[in-house]
Amino acid sequence: MVNCGGCCLGHCWFRFIMVVAMKLICLLVTALFLSSCYSTKLPDAGSSSQARQKATSHSKSKASRKPAKRAVYTVRPNDTLYSIGKRFGIDYHTIAWRNRLRSPYRIYVGQHIYITRVAPRSQALPIARSMYKAPVKTAKKKQGIKSAKPSHKTKARGYAKGRLLWPVKGKVTSLFGRRGSRMHDGVDISAKQGTPIHAADAGTVVYADQRLSGYGKLVIVRHARNLFTAYAHNQRNLVKRGARVRKGDVIARVGRTGRASTAHLHFEVRHGSTAVDPLAYLPRR
Ligand SMILES: [Zn+2]
Repeated sequence: MVNCGGCCLGHCWFRFIMVVAMKLICLLVTALFLSSCYSTKLPDAGSSSQARQKATSHSKSKASRKPAKRAVYTVRPNDTLYSIGKRFGIDYHTIAWRNRLRSPYRIYVGQHIYITRVAPRSQALPIARSMYKAPVKTAKKKQGIKSAKPSHKTKARGYAKGRLLWPVKGKVTSLFGRRGSRMHDGVDISAKQGTPIHAADAGTVVYADQRLSGYGKLVIVRHARNLFTAYAHNQRNLVKRGARVRKGDVIARVGRTGRASTAHLHFEVRHGSTAVDPLAYLPRR
């Protein structure tokens, strides 16, 4: 009896220990699993909506107060540009613009979409701030004595679409807008070394040098209405600062000076210091 009782007791005791041990193991495994779930990194790259929701629910104040300045979102099934915009609190037009997406804004699963609230900055051109004033008045005064060209009056009305001249004949190889994390302030037009570069409109050369890093030999022309055009990576600059140029005048030759791997013209249009899309000012071709 005793033996039997002892045996029974020992058996029960062993079962009890086993059950407790199993429970402990289960708890440990669950804890490990949960901790691995919640250690999902914050979506600096390739965030999923679920990960984001968890992140926001745990550190709501941090995430909502300090949005990532630069983030890449990986498109998931059933995402639309609108739904992504809504999720991140950014107008989907802005996302479209920053990712160079055009209507109907098609996106595909796995595509990387830049989600950022801060647009990349344009590089400043080597022009004194004082130059960014509309030169209309001074131009009129100076021209009063000399022959007042009728073309100047038309310019004073503003720059409509297609107002400028294509500076070089060639294929556009890179558009204006975001290029990765940087801003591409102009368009690149492919052309052979030595191809003539024409002034996009009449104006005054305000810069002809190669001091600006990356641009190589650069010419900047100031036009009416506070509009500037810039021609970079030139093989040779054929004008000097202060020279007045007419629309179509050859002002430089295509090259690959500065940060350029192939011969092309980097062409910029600026309203004051703000870079604008040159294609909005060039005629369709
Ligand atoms: Zn360029």
